[in-house]
Amino acid sequence: IKGQYGKYFATYDDALRGKLLRQQAITDNMESALAGGQFEVYLQPKYRIADERLAGAEALVRWNHPEWGLQLPGEFIPLFEKNGFITKLDQYIWDRACAILRDWDDRGLPPISISVNVSRADIYNADLADILTHTVEKYGLPPSRLHLEITESAYTENPSQIILTVSRLRELGFIIEMDDFGSGYSSLNMLNEMPIDVLKLDMKFIQNETAKPQSQGALRFIMALARWMHLDVVAEGVETRSQLERLREIGCDYVQGYYFAKPMPCGEFQELLKKQEEI
Ligand code: C2E
Ligand code: CA
Ligand code: CA
Ligand code: CA
Repeated sequence: IKGQYGKYFATYDDALRGKLLRQQAITDNMESALAGGQFEVYLQPKYRIADERLAGAEALVRWNHPEWGLQLPGEFIPLFEKNGFITKLDQYIWDRACAILRDWDDRGLPPISISVNVSRADIYNADLADILTHTVEKYGLPPSRLHLEITESAYTENPSQIILTVSRLRELGFIIEMDDFGSGYSSLNMLNEMPIDVLKLDMKFIQNETAKPQSQGALRFIMALARWMHLDVVAEGVETRSQLERLREIGCDYVQGYYFAKPMPCGEFQELLKKQEEI
């Protein structure tokens, strides 16, 4: 038994050491990766349910490391949120997203919008509104082309700060989406006070719950509430036709999910956009 415990702790230590080494490697590499253009914007299509046409995209970062290969955000975003680097990376992603929109406009492609993620750390940056405004102006875009996704948990963490910051961004013309709605504890009361334009239903909510009849009731209730508040609703993580049909039935506006498309490099997305234009 003693030997077994020893072995257990040894593997535990090894795992921990491995994790710390990996975090150190990420920290050592992040600045040069940003400067060297290793962070890349992938775009995941968003479709309007009514006509199943492409209606927008979410920008999701990928790290294309020369030795480690393509890294998903789950590998590095949590660390960047802790060490503060997320603020820099997000600004870079917003800039890239606007550059992409500019390029599409110049090619005469349909003027869809791109949703970008705004980390909770960005909310506390006093220059946030200036930075975002400067970014859209740099590319000659109206702020409404950039949708800002802010996770529900950032709202519950510090409601008064969020209300101030987000009201300002909305006045400037940015579209505000509450991300991961249904994953946390936002009360209906709070939702009513929040300056938002779009509700993005959390993926787990769709995937675990659409199968159960009582959850169809909850979804109907959320849709009724959203309509009353004049909010658009986007369902995330839609993987099957039956999930899509249930969402259509209750009047959900948009879907994003593997059923239609995974996040893809921006060149591929552009082909989709072109194809749709020809129809
Ligand atoms: P999120 O904002 O909730 O983004 C949705 C995630 O769900 C993406 O994962 C997307 O690839 C994935 N997804 C989309 N459709 C489906 C589906 O049908 N099934 C399943 N199983 N998954 C689906 P991804 O790209 O790995 O991003 C993970 C998270 O990392 C994001 O969650 C977001 O919180 C964060 N993130 C990604 N890019 C950025 C960024 O540029 N800035 C910040 N601050 N966070 C980012
Ligand atoms: Ca998001
Ligand atoms: Ca989400
Ligand atoms: Ca509306």
